[in-house]
Amino acid sequence: MRARDNSELKVYGIFGNPLAHTVSPAIQNCAFDFYGLKAIYFAFERSPDRFRYLMRHIRSLVLSGFNITVPFKETVIPYLDRLNSEARVVGAVNTVKKEKNRWVGYNTDVYGFLAGLKKAHFKAKNKSVVVLGAGGSARAVLFALGRAGAEKLTVANRTLSRAGKLVRKFRKMFPRIKWNAVNLKGSQLKAFLPEADLLVNTTKAGLKAQDPLLVSKSFFPKRKILVYDLIYKPSETKLMKTAKRLGHRVINGETMLLFQGAKAFEIWTGRRAPINQMRKALHDALCRS
Ligand code: NDP
Repeated sequence: MRARDNSELKVYGIFGNPLAHTVSPAIQNCAFDFYGLKAIYFAFERSPDRFRYLMRHIRSLVLSGFNITVPFKETVIPYLDRLNSEARVVGAVNTVKKEKNRWVGYNTDVYGFLAGLKKAHFKAKNKSVVVLGAGGSARAVLFALGRAGAEKLTVANRTLSRAGKLVRKFRKMFPRIKWNAVNLKGSQLKAFLPEADLLVNTTKAGLKAQDPLLVSKSFFPKRKILVYDLIYKPSETKLMKTAKRLGHRVINGETMLLFQGAKAFEIWTGRRAPINQMRKALHDALCRS
């Protein structure tokens, strides 16, 4: 007879908005099932007001940990007791764990982003990179590229002041890198893209079919570069399609999603993520959604 498991059910989840098509529950529940863990993972789509309300009551949340996605990765920080060193320097949190009644924030996007670069066989050392966007995921991307030894980093954002803020922050951390902040609207990008080796889209533009193409065709360099879009649904954004037609290499955010989720699972459970099973669950969930 099987011994009775009297341990408490552990509840995890993801907070974000919108969350209708999130595949995180599929990959995390698959990993819990793989080990037969008494744990379950839900999606919690909440308005910004409601999210802040819940975080003010974080002490009474009956969760063992949670993920944070768009647009709350920075919002969550003041409500946590502690950040691990990486989340602190990045300034964004996508994974939270309850540790002895204290809420600790982590950033696993850095790891996930680098896993995508590795899959694309791209080495960032001494490379010139243009990053579109200045939100929570851009922070992780800039930190990852800074640590990987990029030579030049240009941040292009719709709201220029936000790009400027990130550049000022990361310049202090990586003073050898040549930093620039430019406006995504207008032609400022034209000056920086021709010398880029990598273009990363961290904006939400591309999630919907009607979203604008952020980089006009004529701005792309003649040399072949890598275009990395963090979006994974659709699997090929307008930006990726355009880049591909021009002969550039492209990668979407699927590998990043898988590996940031795998790292979160390891933080919560202390077990090695069953990556092949999680990859299959992710793939199946994306096909269904
Ligand atoms: P944030 O809300 O923190 O930042 C959003 C960014 O997108 C801002 O720079 C914002 O510009 C910009 N933006 C939004 N709409 C537009 C638009 N129409 N045109 C131009 N810029 C726009 O979000 P995150 O950084 O957390 O996430 C961004 C994207 O990255 C999402 O699509 C998310 O799904 C994806 N992502 C994927 C991951 C993966 O594992 N594959 C992990 C993390 C994120 P402004 O400052 O002007 O508002």
